Amino acid sequence: MKTQPASPRTSQPPRETQTFATDVKFVKGVGERIATALRERGVQTVEDLLYHLPFRYEDRLHPRHLRELKPGEMASVIGEVRGAALLRTKKMPIFEVTVGQGLDTVKCLWFRGTYLQGKFKAGQMVALYGKVEASSSRAGAFKMIQPQFEFLPDASATGEDAEFAGLEVGRIVPVYESLGGTTAWGAKLGSKWLRRVLWDLLAEVKDAPETLPLALRERLKLPGRMGALREVHFPSEGTRLEDLTYARTPALRRLVFEELFYLELGLELKRRRMREREGIAFQTGTDVREALKQILPFHPTAAQKRVLGEIVADMQHPQPMRRLLQGDVGSGKTIVALEAAIVAMENGYQAALMAPTEILATQHYLSARKVLQKATKEDGNRRYRITLLTGSLEPAEKKAARGKIYRGETDLVIGTHALLEEKVDFDRLGLIVVDEQHRFGVQQRFRLMKKSGAAEPDVLVMTATPIPRTLALTMYGDLDVSILDELPPGRTPIVTRRVEEQRSAEVWDFVRKQIQAGRQAYVVYPLIEGTNDDQPELDFAHDPPPEEEAAPKKGSRKKSSDLFKAKLKSATQMYEELSAGPLRGLHLGLLHGRLDAAEKEIVMARFQRGEIDVLLSTTVIEVGVDVPNATVMVIEHAERFGLAQMHQLRGRVGRGSAKSYCILLTGVMVSQEADQRLDAMVRSQNGFELAEIDLEQRGPGEFFGTRQSGLPEFRVASLLRDREILELAKREAASFAVNAEATEEEKETVRTQLKQHWQRHYGLVEA
Ligand code: ADP
Ligand code: MG
Repeated sequence: MKTQPASPRTSQPPRETQTFATDVKFVKGVGERIATALRERGVQTVEDLLYHLPFRYEDRLHPRHLRELKPGEMASVIGEVRGAALLRTKKMPIFEVTVGQGLDTVKCLWFRGTYLQGKFKAGQMVALYGKVEASSSRAGAFKMIQPQFEFLPDASATGEDAEFAGLEVGRIVPVYESLGGTTAWGAKLGSKWLRRVLWDLLAEVKDAPETLPLALRERLKLPGRMGALREVHFPSEGTRLEDLTYARTPALRRLVFEELFYLELGLELKRRRMREREGIAFQTGTDVREALKQILPFHPTAAQKRVLGEIVADMQHPQPMRRLLQGDVGSGKTIVALEAAIVAMENGYQAALMAPTEILATQHYLSARKVLQKATKEDGNRRYRITLLTGSLEPAEKKAARGKIYRGETDLVIGTHALLEEKVDFDRLGLIVVDEQHRFGVQQRFRLMKKSGAAEPDVLVMTATPIPRTLALTMYGDLDVSILDELPPGRTPIVTRRVEEQRSAEVWDFVRKQIQAGRQAYVVYPLIEGTNDDQPELDFAHDPPPEEEAAPKKGSRKKSSDLFKAKLKSATQMYEELSAGPLRGLHLGLLHGRLDAAEKEIVMARFQRGEIDVLLSTTVIEVGVDVPNATVMVIEHAERFGLAQMHQLRGRVGRGSAKSYCILLTGVMVSQEADQRLDAMVRSQNGFELAEIDLEQRGPGEFFGTRQSGLPEFRVASLLRDREILELAKREAASFAVNAEATEEEKETVRTQLKQHWQRHYGLVEA
């Protein structure tokens, strides 16, 4: 080798000029080659490296005694390697290491651990982290399956190992995600390496540009930025492990706050900017009141009145409305939306109502016609003209519909995405209502909001999946929020039961009895036919079949899930079985995603008219469908469904005054997570509560079912852990936007920081 990569030490600028913006390649211990690997992980500067924070800590100052361990807990222990051996079992090679403390020992097992041969030497000190399990062979003893491990320097260590020994033992030690990932760099750029590099770097970077104004920091008792970074990487003596884990140390709070403050400040400014635009100031005189009185089919609930009040107040203001209406299933959002539409229409504007599926759009169309036809003019003519526009209309029909919309010959347009995606020009669009928002991507939301004629229309976004407040604050922080937290009167709680598959005969008996009593039922399946490949509605990803959980190896995954699939009953299969067997003689209908829109509508309409007793369906009926006479919801393979989804499905019944039932049929093998979900369903009918549980189980990224939910990725903050700081950041950002307690210089810093923050983290470039 002739040309060697430039040594990091020779190409390094004088130490004192190392700033946050310095290229990471100049960091001691990095250099060109490693820098290339780091860049792939998004680490380009000193700042990026400093913000690669520990994802957990180990207290190696107060190591645990093996005797104190409890089965099931995650624990870190330190011990001495006593012996290591590769065991060849029938299934796979297992590498076994015995680690001891005095007379106590713990066995560590690594499946297919052949690669570990020769690594563990007797007498070596090692730190382990993993789940503790009771030993199957020795009473009172423990084992750890595939724990993370790190060899510790001992008294005889020399060179670098001795120099850095103080970072690895006798203190709270930061543990980092490797910056090499699973590449060849993985092992090298792990915790040990990062500790050393960061330790040196923190000694060399003398100053961090402060990003939070002093007055704010003093009031909230937040430490300076540089000090906070030091503390987070290398907590000083006396810090408690627990406080680090729950981000309760001042240092962590400071960094979390900073990140969330800039998120919320950006959202707040967006919010304010949006409201500076020219919108429509709707009038609400006697006409509106008269029309509302004519259409209302029932007394609104107190929550409906309050929410309508909030919406109307927004509509009266000349600024454009940007409001999110959250309401649990069945809380009566539709009528509120129609009331808002009336305000717009009475002012001579058009309103648009959008739903995520054709079935829902059609249903809205039908119910809007029914409700609004009651509003008549003095001459007895109807007040409002309503048009349905969906993707499946014939081209000629579509063209006609668009023409009407364009010429202002229609007042209310109800449709699907087609309204967004195709070029639809409105004559005088005043209000946009988006129903079941979580089905639309956030990008679409922004696109929709940009679509406007002369004046900026008001926008009301409705969601039936209650969104945990933390997520609402981050994803919808630029919207005002109204909450419908009351169900219409006369609803009795839906009786929810778990029943194992073997007892399904009793369930079908029960369904039959309900039908005989004049009711209708839904039966929902996860699959159409024997496969889930073409079933995009259902998200299997978060709930692996139980067999898989026991199998440690990735390769075995496919096979076992094929097996599992074979065992699943599909909707078509069950349709045959049920109509020939337990539900013989009843009118069964089948609804699934492979039917085209017209076919679906025919089935839905027949169910609505009561011509179908039992509707077998895949999850296409998940949201919005409203048939008050249906009183039973049977969910087959309920263990396969997500919590939000089950709650949505359950919301299809209990819409009338008759007592309703939700039966969760499950297999015998139910994973622990699924078990918790099923229990939660039986225990609670509060969508907000269930949403919180769902969020905790799946994490923010998966909550909406898709990765591109538009949820920001955080460097420091965790939405599950840092709720309270998020609330604080939101309040502080709101008041900062109005009246910044900062010097002119600090304000300038905040502005610059805000721009950078948003560009980097949310990919949004502010105008
Ligand atoms: P969601 O909020 O799930 O969209 P809907 O708007 O479909 O709920 O309303 C659910 C059912 O409750 C509908 O049948 C609707 O007519 C009825 N409903 C709504 N508000 C009231 C009310 N104030 N009193 C009685 N029934 C109501
Ligand atoms: Mg609805």
